[in-house]
Amino acid sequence: MLNADLHCHSNVSDGTLAPAELAARAKANGVGLWALTDHDELGGIAEARASASGVGLRFVAGVEISVTWAGKTVHIVGLGIDETDPVLVAGLASVRGGRERRGQEIASQLEQAGIPGAFEGALKYADNPDMLGRTHFARYLVEVGAQPTVAEVFQHYLAEGKPGFVPHAWAKLEDAVGWIRSAGGRAVIAHPGRYPFSAIQLDALIDAFRSFGGEGIEVVTGSHTPDQFDSFARIARHAGLLASRGSDFHGPSESRVDIGTLPPLPSGLTPVWHDW
Ligand code: AMP
Ligand code: MN
Ligand code: MN
Ligand code: MN
Repeated sequence: MLNADLHCHSNVSDGTLAPAELAARAKANGVGLWALTDHDELGGIAEARASASGVGLRFVAGVEISVTWAGKTVHIVGLGIDETDPVLVAGLASVRGGRERRGQEIASQLEQAGIPGAFEGALKYADNPDMLGRTHFARYLVEVGAQPTVAEVFQHYLAEGKPGFVPHAWAKLEDAVGWIRSAGGRAVIAHPGRYPFSAIQLDALIDAFRSFGGEGIEVVTGSHTPDQFDSFARIARHAGLLASRGSDFHGPSESRVDIGTLPPLPSGLTPVWHDW
C-alpha cells in the first residue's frame, strides 16, 4: 500500500523543522504521498511543494484548522486544497487572530503558578509569531525545568483544568469544512480518539461534519493506539467516511511517531487519497 503521510507540522506553526527539512525526511523515510498540514496557516505550502518536487515526492497541500464544537477544541484537516483560495485564506486569517492575546492570558496564569516570563519565553520558540500556541509555551516550560518533556508539560499545565489553559473560540465546524471545500479540498476529522467526547457525542460530531460536506476521518494517526486504529476503522466503514493516515509529526525530539512510519490502514477502508 502507498505510504501516505497526510498530517505533519513545520516551524510555520508548531513543528520544529522547516518545510524543506520535512520534505527530505519524508522522502528518506519512504513516504510516497505527503501533505504538510500546519495549524491555521498556509505559509509553508510553497516551500513544501517545491522541496517535495525537488526530491521526487508526491505532495498535496494541507492545513489543520482549529474548531470549537460543543464547547471543545476539534481539529479538521483539509487536504488537496488550493492554498490561494481567497475564502480559505481569509477564514484562516480570522482563526489566527486572538492568539497573541490568548498567549498573554496563558502567561499571566503561569505567572500566578510561579513561572514568570512565559510570554517572551514562548515567543522565542514561535518562528511565526502569528501562530503562538501552547506547544511554544510547553517548550519554554521545559526550558525552565518545570517538566522534563513537552508531553509531560501537558499533563500538568496548559490542558483544560490546569494552569495556563485559556478557553478560546476557534472556527465553527461548518465554516472550517466550508472553507476547505471552497478551496477544492477534502475535509477530514483529525485524531478523533483524542477528544473528550462520549460515543454519542462523537456520533453527533460525525453527523454534523457530514452534513456540512466533510468526507474523511483519520484512522491511523500518531495520536491513536493500535486498538484505536481498529475502532476508528469500524467507525469509518460504518459512517461511509474516507480513511486518512498521518503521523502528526512535530519534530524529532518531541514526536513519538516519525513521519512515514505508521502501520498501513486496516483493510476494507477507502483511503482519502483513492482518486488522487
Ligand atoms: P493550540 O492550538 O495553541 O491550542 O496548541 C495545540 C497544540 O498543542 C497541538 O497541536 C499539539 O501540538 C499540542 N498539544 C496539545 N495537547 C498535547 C499533549 N497532550 N501532548 C503534546 N502536545 C500537545
Ligand atoms: Mn500542534
Ligand atoms: Mn491536532
Ligand atoms: Mn496536528
